[in-house]
Amino acid sequence: MILPPTSPEIKYCPRCSGPLEERELPFEDRPRLSCARCGYIFYLNPKVVAGTIPEQDDKIYLLRRGLEPRRGSWTFPAGYMELGESVEGAARRETLEETGLDVEIISLVNVYSRPEIGVVVIVYRGRVVGGEPVLGPEALEISAVSPEDIPWDGLSFPSTRWALKDWVRWYASASTGTSGIALPKHSL
Ligand SMILES: [Zn+2]
Repeated sequence: MILPPTSPEIKYCPRCSGPLEERELPFEDRPRLSCARCGYIFYLNPKVVAGTIPEQDDKIYLLRRGLEPRRGSWTFPAGYMELGESVEGAARRETLEETGLDVEIISLVNVYSRPEIGVVVIVYRGRVVGGEPVLGPEALEISAVSPEDIPWDGLSFPSTRWALKDWVRWYASASTGTSGIALPKHSL
């Protein structure tokens, strides 16, 4: 479960096991959890989620979540960055793990803030360059969907909707003047 920016659940110093207390510090603009024994400051910062919208043949791959929260809802592959990774590397790894698809990062879709849960979501367009759609342990279903078939009422998170809206807006502009897929207005 994602911890909010400050959490009463964190009680002990990770360095010396002393008690952590929320205290005002002279050089900080907000109270910080700090150790009464060794002085260690336990900074809580947002976590970064990286993902891709995998594209192939005018369709994108979405998967249905097999885990809570929002089990059964639709999203694109994304997950928490690990230390030592680049954002692009994390997005590719998560895509491969969750869908079996190897993607090349094309461009940034956008960056989305979720301050209420302490998460930043970074989403890329991904061109499928290899692999096969494989159902991982975290998904109930994988589907290649046309832009007009995106299940807007069954998406997982606000950031899922924001990123897909941005992607669809890009797709619609890229298709202008061609025989591109006509998009329903409500999806924009
Ligand atoms: Zn300590």
